[in-house]
Amino acid sequence: MTRHLPFLAAALAVTAMPAHADELTQDIAADMPALMELYRDLHAHPELSFEEHRTAKLLAERMRKLGFVVTEGVGKTGVVSVMTNGAGPTVMLRADMDGLPVVEQTGLAFASKQVATPASGVTTGVMHACGHDTHMTAFIGAAQQLAARKDEWQGTLVMILQPAEEIGLGAKAMLDDGLYTRFPKPDYAVAFHDAAQFPAGMVGYSPGFALANVDSVDITVPGIGGHGAYPHTTRDPVVLASAIVMKLQTLVSRESSPLDPAVVTVGSFHAGAKHNIISDEAKLQITVRSYSDASRKLLLDGISRIARGEAIAAGMPEDKMPVVMIEEEYTPSTYNDPEFTETIMAGLRTRLGDARVMQVPSVMGGEDFSQFKRAAPDDVQSLIFWVGGVPQDLYDKAQAGEASLPSLHSPFWAPDAEKVIATGAEGMVSAALQLMPTQG
Ligand SMILES: [Zn+2]
Ligand SMILES: [Zn+2]
Repeated sequence: MTRHLPFLAAALAVTAMPAHADELTQDIAADMPALMELYRDLHAHPELSFEEHRTAKLLAERMRKLGFVVTEGVGKTGVVSVMTNGAGPTVMLRADMDGLPVVEQTGLAFASKQVATPASGVTTGVMHACGHDTHMTAFIGAAQQLAARKDEWQGTLVMILQPAEEIGLGAKAMLDDGLYTRFPKPDYAVAFHDAAQFPAGMVGYSPGFALANVDSVDITVPGIGGHGAYPHTTRDPVVLASAIVMKLQTLVSRESSPLDPAVVTVGSFHAGAKHNIISDEAKLQITVRSYSDASRKLLLDGISRIARGEAIAAGMPEDKMPVVMIEEEYTPSTYNDPEFTETIMAGLRTRLGDARVMQVPSVMGGEDFSQFKRAAPDDVQSLIFWVGGVPQDLYDKAQAGEASLPSLHSPFWAPDAEKVIATGAEGMVSAALQLMPTQG
């Protein structure tokens, strides 16, 4: 913590120079027509997780032209671009590249017509329904500004294009492929995500825990099957699994602290094939959300204990206890270092004005951006902030009760991309300039 303080002090000093702000805003505005062309291209050509070949190639080429030293294929399809510019801290900026298996229904002229076959085997449309196309375009916008302003910063800039955020595996893949050993390890990591609940061009941030631990749990509940008319000769797994589902509700309401957010949702329950047959198995799929490691452990241990306890209560023999599978790869919670977050957001307030930057509640969604801090918690300070994407007229209608807002991942999610990109780019450049002040 202490070793970052001199940089933070210097960073705070920079925020007292608002003249900068107008210039940067104008320079980004001048880049917008070309950036929007790139955006429409990326939007029309989304690719699924770890399949971002065209996207990576296209953007790697752009970064090379800007003077970055570019390495492709880091963590399968990831791209690392480095620009060294004298002594100083290392700042990492990140954008994610993947689209989703969603059939686009926005009606936009440049809507995606792409199809693909994901791991599930079911061919589907592909769409940038999470707005990662706005992230990538803002990333290029930021790279252009930082490359053109090398006299305004000093240090090492690492800009990464991450694959497979949607399946929570891309950040880890890049780290496992040597992101912090083959390339300069960052002192600071910064990213943004578009937001579907507030107006385009607004910036939202949550100091501390911002997004949750995300765990997936599968429970197989054996029963002893038989005729539906003779239940006394069976052990009904539908009744047993139902008891488990109900008892799981007490984990959050009775065991977890009311002050520590947690979620246990049974999203899938499958059993049986016919009216009059008692099945010999039920299957549950559960998503578990938490912030702290302790809370995560309480929930996961509790799920195993409840499954076993209910099976014993139902009279199941020891060799037919429920099998609880906790997926090994999970998305850890995302932590925004509070002091660091406030410093960067103070810088952004100076540029955008108080009205456009607000603290917002943290959420129980997940983001694998968390991995970049988790891989070196004592060395890396990290921040992910939100940039509102809802078109103002739609937002006003929703406020008046005349429209509902599509969420991220909706086939109707059509952000005001121009505002998201301009604001996201300015936010990232602002952070980088604050964190890497010239020392002349
Ligand atoms: Zn998403
Ligand atoms: Zn996303």
